[in-house]
Amino acid sequence: MENPLAHRTLETLSARPVPTDGPRPVFSVVIPAYNESAGLIAFHARLRAVMDGLGTWEAIYVDDGSTDDTRAMIDAIRADDHHAGIVALSRNFGKEVATTAGLDFTRGTAVIVIDADLQDPPEVIPELVAAWRKGFDMVNAQRRARDGETPLKRLTASLFYRLMRDAGPVKLPVDTGDFRLMSRRVVDAVGLLRERHRFMKGIFAWVGYPTTTVLYDRAPRHAGETKWNYWRLWNLALEGITSFTMMPLKIATYLGLTVAVISVLYAAEVIVKTIILGNQVAGYPSLMTVVLFLGGVQLMTLGVIGEYLGRVFNETKYRPLYLVERFEPGREQGD
Ligand code: UDP
Ligand code: MG
Repeated sequence: MENPLAHRTLETLSARPVPTDGPRPVFSVVIPAYNESAGLIAFHARLRAVMDGLGTWEAIYVDDGSTDDTRAMIDAIRADDHHAGIVALSRNFGKEVATTAGLDFTRGTAVIVIDADLQDPPEVIPELVAAWRKGFDMVNAQRRARDGETPLKRLTASLFYRLMRDAGPVKLPVDTGDFRLMSRRVVDAVGLLRERHRFMKGIFAWVGYPTTTVLYDRAPRHAGETKWNYWRLWNLALEGITSFTMMPLKIATYLGLTVAVISVLYAAEVIVKTIILGNQVAGYPSLMTVVLFLGGVQLMTLGVIGEYLGRVFNETKYRPLYLVERFEPGREQGD
């Protein structure tokens, strides 16, 4: 179905006040940052050391409504290094939207998305670039080890990836975060997907194009704290499953069907027993069991449908994905 506001979405909601003419850097690095002031300077030093050796580049720091002095840190970095630009969002929109905002403002021929906490080592970028130069549009960085993460987080993460891989039409690369390199056409394609429920890993996978993977070791967080708790991770998993698969709807359907069949069999048994043995003790327990069980299944099914309905509701509002409070590109691009 045609989105009646598509022109609005593209022209005003995601307006790119970035001059598209003039020299473009070869590389854009998008760094979503939410309360990352503690490690940002160290991050930029390592990023710069790597990027300066690769070609012309810009760094787009997205301040995702931080409540600490992340923004001041970014401005300090910008005062010191002309490669750095800033997109400051009007409030915290979450990592997925912050990343999208950053992508919208990039001008590079190849775009790298990287976390600000040094869990994604900038030193891996040359390997991503090498794969891109070989002709791949999308280069995923896949973690080899998950140091500094609890066994529970590791287990739940691997379960989730395997579930998504088996349930959905889009194959998610296992153990891959948002650390990746994309060619211009992939970034432009991702920019066309303006859905509110943004499961970025799914979106990247949906876009397609020649894709490859580079292995790296994921380091423990350098400074600051992870913004993910289990509730947020659970919601992210729910997002992935309901945005990209119909599996829960199918489970609900089959569960309902199974219970219905069992109930019919059980009813038949009760009727036959009544005919042969006469009316036994009034069947209060069995009645309650059946009523409660069916009630439970119905509620569960409704819940599943509600999850999808809520998403339809959110998508139909056509709100802008994010609001920008301030944008300043890096200076002297293409030097
Ligand atoms: N982040 C963000 N907005 C948020 C939460 C996180 O921009 O609401 C950024 C954060 O600053 C970091 C990256 O997303 O650069 C990954 O966040 P985090 O390290 O907390 O996640 P994890 O590494 O545990 O997946
Ligand atoms: Mg992290």
